[in-house]
Amino acid sequence: MPFEEQLRQWLEECGALLTGHFLLTSGLHSDKYVEKFRLLERPNLVSKVCAEIVRRFEGEKIDAVLGPAVGGIILAFETARQLGCRYLFAETENGQRVLRRGFSIQQGERVLLVEDVVTTGGSVKATLDLALSNGAEVVGVVVLVDRGETPLQLPVRTEILLRLPLQTFQPESCPLCRQGVPLERRGSKR
Ligand SMILES: [Zn+2]
Repeated sequence: MPFEEQLRQWLEECGALLTGHFLLTSGLHSDKYVEKFRLLERPNLVSKVCAEIVRRFEGEKIDAVLGPAVGGIILAFETARQLGCRYLFAETENGQRVLRRGFSIQQGERVLLVEDVVTTGGSVKATLDLALSNGAEVVGVVVLVDRGETPLQLPVRTEILLRLPLQTFQPESCPLCRQGVPLERRGSKR
């Protein structure tokens, strides 16, 4: 089974693919939501996902794995554990992606970025900019699930583990809002 198909099956089996009326962190509405923590709460599955990430970057020298909080921390930790390198995470402060807690990237360090779910790509781009502005040589970006209408495009090697384009609506033209379906907020509040 191709890995993409396997991952979709795992997400279904662990109840990560939800149906309803959701407010995404991008501000858009959707009738579907990927609750990544149904997968991330299972270390055995996380371990298998990260083994695939390691396989894709075999032969590449990687000094550190960087993930944005919160979901990215788990993927970054396990990927780094399997690679035998360091990991660090980025946080959001006043709308900016920052490194806190004394985390730092040395000039020229080879860094792999891992992100969980991407819709507009704004968050992953901010993390990429953060790594580059700290002098990292970015080996690549890995995305667990890309929900975007068009595949994520970045100026570095990008590995999308699963493409799952889900329909999103602007709040003012959302059919679920018109039907009066209660809106559920998921994910981190920005
Ligand atoms: Zn709506």
